Amino acid sequence: MAPTRREFLIIAGLSVIGTACPPLARIASAKAKVTGAWAGLPGAPGRAPALTARRWAMVVDAKKCYDDCTDCMTACHSTHNVPAIGNPMHEVKWIWPERFEKVFPAESHPRIPEAVRKQIGPVLCNHCDNPPCVRVCPTGATFRRTDGIVMMDSHRCIGCKICLAACPYGARSINFVNPRPFIRNLNPDFPTRSKGVIEKCNFCEERLARGILPACVIACREKALVFGDVDNPQSKVSQILDRKFSIRRRAELGTKPQVYYIL
Ligand code: SF4
Repeated sequence: MAPTRREFLIIAGLSVIGTACPPLARIASAKAKVTGAWAGLPGAPGRAPALTARRWAMVVDAKKCYDDCTDCMTACHSTHNVPAIGNPMHEVKWIWPERFEKVFPAESHPRIPEAVRKQIGPVLCNHCDNPPCVRVCPTGATFRRTDGIVMMDSHRCIGCKICLAACPYGARSINFVNPRPFIRNLNPDFPTRSKGVIEKCNFCEERLARGILPACVIACREKALVFGDVDNPQSKVSQILDRKFSIRRRAELGTKPQVYYIL
């Protein structure tokens, strides 16, 4: 079948790139191999429609997590080129394991069964509805989208660390050193960061735009992580929250976290 006018223009554009700039052509070709020839082109044939929500949220059913499982963390960090620095002082993390007594210090007391106090679950940015990190950022590098995702634009980040201090959850990391040599398996579809830049979980906004759920949710074999539109009563997230008792981290601070824990 003859190509449509749109397909012809795309092919012509890629040919020009290939002639003028071989490295860009290699990137385009590698990307085509990984995700299909038309990947990344808005409205391209076969491209899944973006996942959208009025308000994205996550439910973590910590009872389903077991101690030595790191599937969600491995998937997240390899998807987003999070460096494995190997020095706890310089650690960069988007999602990481934490014990109940540390995640919910106000709810923890000596009469809570040890099994619960020592229960491990994943923690991440809470994509707060009232995020102090956004309020304090002097450059607008961190901002909240209308669907609730709290974003980080590393190009606008000046590394002042004020957001780092403002986040009461320790959800932000700074690259004290150049992170690029510490990336284990480079994902060419996601940008790397540079020294001095802050980073954190982005609720996989780049995957949602391609119609794919967050990497951690897909990777979890126990289905402990559920992601969806908390403003849609039909969503799985809403239905779980309607049925089960859940708590949020340090909600008394008024930050309105959008990661809910079932314990
Ligand atoms: Fe900002 Fe921290 Fe809330 Fe994430 S958890 S939105 S970094 S205040």
